[in-house]
Amino acid sequence: MITDFTLRGVILLDFDIRRSEPCDLIFRNGRLAHMRPLAGEGESRLFLTPGFWDAHHHLLHHGLSARRCDLSACASLEEALDRLSAYVRAQTTGECVVWAERWDESGWTEPRTPTRADIDRVVADRPVVMRRICGHCAVLNSRAIEDARRHWGTFDDSGSATEEQALGLSTVWPPSAQEREDALLRAQDAAIAMGITRVNEMGGPSAAETYTTIEQRGRLKIDVRLFLPPDQMERAVELRRQGTFDGPRLRLGGIKLYTDGSVGARTAALREPYVDRTTAGELRFGDADLLAVMRRCRQADLRIAIHAIGDAAIDQVLRLLEQLAGEEGALPPGWVTLEHAELVDEAMLDRAQVLRVGLSLQPNFVARWGGEGGLYEHALGRERARRANPYRDVWDRRIPMFFGSDGMPMDPALGLKGAVGHPRAEQRLTAEEALSVYVGGRAAPEGLWEEEAWWQLGSAGAVLYDRDPLELADGDLSRAPVLGVLWRGQWILEPPADLFRSGVIHVS
Ligand SMILES: [Zn+2]
Repeated sequence: MITDFTLRGVILLDFDIRRSEPCDLIFRNGRLAHMRPLAGEGESRLFLTPGFWDAHHHLLHHGLSARRCDLSACASLEEALDRLSAYVRAQTTGECVVWAERWDESGWTEPRTPTRADIDRVVADRPVVMRRICGHCAVLNSRAIEDARRHWGTFDDSGSATEEQALGLSTVWPPSAQEREDALLRAQDAAIAMGITRVNEMGGPSAAETYTTIEQRGRLKIDVRLFLPPDQMERAVELRRQGTFDGPRLRLGGIKLYTDGSVGARTAALREPYVDRTTAGELRFGDADLLAVMRRCRQADLRIAIHAIGDAAIDQVLRLLEQLAGEEGALPPGWVTLEHAELVDEAMLDRAQVLRVGLSLQPNFVARWGGEGGLYEHALGRERARRANPYRDVWDRRIPMFFGSDGMPMDPALGLKGAVGHPRAEQRLTAEEALSVYVGGRAAPEGLWEEEAWWQLGSAGAVLYDRDPLELADGDLSRAPVLGVLWRGQWILEPPADLFRSGVIHVS
């Protein structure tokens, strides 16, 4: 591992995406020791930025689904079923369940939800689970329904999972420990190749076990803040007590809660109904139950990441936090992050600011579904869709602000594109601002994430490009391919050999 070297002709972009003059950077033991102005006639050709922080991800799930039947590119239900059928025919083992993931009917010629009969028509002899891209919606074939009924005692005849069941399908067909570990390592490599060095993992039932194993084997290369489901609260506290989360890379983020569903599944809880359905979605907690979970987390000193997409869900969370803050005087800054918060309005942002709540946002959703004629417009109506995801309003209030992908897909360039090309011009961020949020530059005005290794002389966490990374805001990762990633004193992605041969990276 080469750790003593000079990077020649670098423009350094800090957390605010301010640019340095072209300079040479001298590294000792993988850490930036000092910088000096570019010597003589040299030409600047490298860019160095902090790594991306994907603040809402399901990295383990991403790795698992990478080996499953992927329906995300299908343009119709027929195409999705064809792909499923071809996938099954190509498989040699006939035993296990077939996962067909990431369908998105909002882009289909006829946008309807698949049914049990649809799947039975193409695969009848093996259990098949088809899951929507948001994860909040799933349909099973007849064979899979038998398994699900054995597990849960009941399952709807239509094949449609309840939201609870859709989110818990991996408890019916749990992947083996080996499958999970392989999947996580695969997903980690994919993340690093995109310049991601930090992830907030919204983990499922087996996440704690898998991450702990990988960390103990010394194979965790990026920083992970692990958020666990509420039923693992005791476990989280116990693991923390044992020192499991003391290492620099694996940290306990806290507890992750869902208070509503998704816009795509029409289960996000709205104040006014969806325009294309008779429902307004549904709150998953009554006030008393949600308040009880919040109190337990406060007592156990656990942060909470609260999924709240619809305006009714966001309002409920804020209202209960106001009640708690009233009882306690004030809540600790950053104790809660609102995850997604898509239908937040200005009044709610003002309340979030007073409560010192952070906002964890997914600008790739805007890029995918926020545009004219897109899913949000169909589901919410034009006016409400345009008011969704008001990034400029969040930015202007200096509310702690994070970007993440939710794995739909992981690609940070798509997120930058969503923030910079927001359908409402007055809510757009500049490419610099968007990149700054995505590397964590808006995370910590109050020492919120105080233990983070900040990009500064003496520490090192950096992604190397040979093109201006602001070009990523076009939404295309190939515009500025990642050449190398340096994190915690090591190249976790080695730069290509020709950079060493040509002396652009000079080994000393
Ligand atoms: Zn999520």
